[in-house]
Amino acid sequence: MLQRLWHPCSRWSTNICRGLSGSSVLREGPPPNLRSSFERLPRRAQVQLPAAQVPEPPTPAWFRYSPWSDKFQGTLKTRILLQTLFYALLITQASNYLDSKLFPQATEDDPPKYASPGELQIAIEKLRKTFPEPGRVDTNPDVVKTAGSSPNSYHPASAHSVVVRPKSTEDVVKIVNIAREFKVPITAYSGATSLEGHFSGYPSGSICLDISGMDKILHINEEDSDLVCQAGTRWEDINQTLKEKGIPLFFPLDPGPGATIGGMMGTGCSGSPSICPLSFYSIDSPALQLMRSDTVLPNGEVIKTRRRSRKSSAGWDATKLFIGAEGTLGIVTEATLRLAPSIPTKVAMAQFSDVKQAVSAVQEILNTSYGSHVQCVELLDDRMMEAINNGGLIDRPYPVQDTLFFKLQGDDAAIKLTSKTIEALVKKHGSSKFEFAATDEEAENLWQNRKYALMSTMAAYPDAKCWTTDVCVPVSRLPQLVLETKKDLADAGLSSTIVGHVGDGNFHALILFHDDKELELVSQAVHRLVHRALAMDGTCTGEHGVGVGKKEYLKEELGEGTVALMKQVKKVVDPYNIMNPGKLYPD
Ligand SMILES: Cc1cc2nc3c(=O)[nH]c(=O)nc-3n(C[C@H](O)[C@H](O)[C@H](O)COP(=O)(O)OP(=O)(O)OC[C@H]3O[C@@H](n4cnc5c(N)ncnc54)[C@H](O)[C@@H]3O)c2cc1C
Repeated sequence: MLQRLWHPCSRWSTNICRGLSGSSVLREGPPPNLRSSFERLPRRAQVQLPAAQVPEPPTPAWFRYSPWSDKFQGTLKTRILLQTLFYALLITQASNYLDSKLFPQATEDDPPKYASPGELQIAIEKLRKTFPEPGRVDTNPDVVKTAGSSPNSYHPASAHSVVVRPKSTEDVVKIVNIAREFKVPITAYSGATSLEGHFSGYPSGSICLDISGMDKILHINEEDSDLVCQAGTRWEDINQTLKEKGIPLFFPLDPGPGATIGGMMGTGCSGSPSICPLSFYSIDSPALQLMRSDTVLPNGEVIKTRRRSRKSSAGWDATKLFIGAEGTLGIVTEATLRLAPSIPTKVAMAQFSDVKQAVSAVQEILNTSYGSHVQCVELLDDRMMEAINNGGLIDRPYPVQDTLFFKLQGDDAAIKLTSKTIEALVKKHGSSKFEFAATDEEAENLWQNRKYALMSTMAAYPDAKCWTTDVCVPVSRLPQLVLETKKDLADAGLSSTIVGHVGDGNFHALILFHDDKELELVSQAVHRLVHRALAMDGTCTGEHGVGVGKKEYLKEELGEGTVALMKQVKKVVDPYNIMNPGKLYPD
């Protein structure tokens, strides 16, 4: 090889000789004094050197296969073919490399590409053309800001770009199709009572799909105890309508005042009657009450998740896929609800000197044969009772103690027997006071005070703001959770009230703050509360949902595998991630 390098015929050898001057390798070539004379020699003279002095170096065997070598043994055609193949391969590899550098492929973790500001404007124009009637497409700055934030949430929020108000499933399909065409995030919005930043806008621009106008009750099937309505129908309106029509049925989920069926399905809500055994709503009450839905998928297709029959084992329950999905998998436009018999109720109250006594009393009551007559049982801590007294919304003050409110259902005889049993059991567990509401009006007021706990808390602390959060633990762990949380909040110097659906281990802390410094303390206290609940084999949210506020806890609570499955489902159903991005799934 070295001999070949200094072969006078080779320009390469000459250059290498120059570059390597002084090295031992060079000494194997012609001596430096000869080099210049070689270079000066006419080409012919070089060629005519005697063969004996410059022996032809042996050719490596592979040269015979190289289409660039003059020793190549194939035909000219083969040489051209091989060289062409080589260059084709080279060009393909080089262009792939350049392509991957210039236009990198989106990976699972890459942020999705949404409409540019210009594309967003074109999408809004298209919405305007599609819905030319006044009020259907709204870009008023105050409206889009209000629709993108909640006065009850302190998580980061952005205004939407436009609010669109559909009237029918077909309208929703048109809006979803425009959102998909221009890759604009789209967020369903109905009662706007959710508490974890569920319906905030997307920073690069988003469509708020305000479904609250789709609020018609379509059919009441009294004999089947079900009702079909549009997704924007409020739960209170359903119960009011049933009452006005004299139909002895009611819809037993009661989240925040003003909440609608679409949003209730979105958050997987429940409420105070969720322990009611007569209405078979234990634990996953929304799943049992929401029988089927019409849902617009991100691809614009409308699916019906089930028929109206009471039960079905025709495959897994697609209705459940959309319960707690927070508008990230589809927009519910219509739902069939299961109704419960409207049974006469009475309200009773029992007071205790500590939460532990109250909870153990409830556990024992629910396990008796009279447990089925307890429709709801709610715990209000001493601070909540104080807030109700100070809030100015009641006629007479209550003793400031941890208190249970019972709603009993049944005929007079059943209520009488149940109340006797409850009275005996609460006394056994140390209750200092047990009484029935004297009149129906008092019972109604008592219950409303519980329902309006947030308003009572706000009225009692008029200068403060309130962060409401919920967690849920196995019932037996509730007293420990409540006591540790109360101590933790007091140690942090924070005021709070506590209410809970004590029958299912779900409790809400309403924590007050006055400024950003206290807000930070509240945020930290909520974080500690969630970890306390998780350590007790509980959940970061029993009924309010995940939204923006709780998504950081999902992996810890459900595990990597479950969260990965949820993300995979989301990816398949909504490949462009246009439906309520930024909510529910951990980053
Ligand atoms: C004072 C007060 C008391 C409360 N008490 C309770 C309680 O006791 N129990 C309880 O569970 N909750 C309670 N909440 C929370 C709240 O009422 C519930 O989370 C309720 O289910 C939200 O319904 P909404 O119609 O207001 O939904 P919104 O806030 O409008 O939306 C909630 C979520 O659902 C999605 N969504 C809305 N409509 C649709 C649709 N048509 N299709 C698909 N997704 C949709 C939204 O995008 C969002 O992610 C309370 C809230 C307040 C303010």
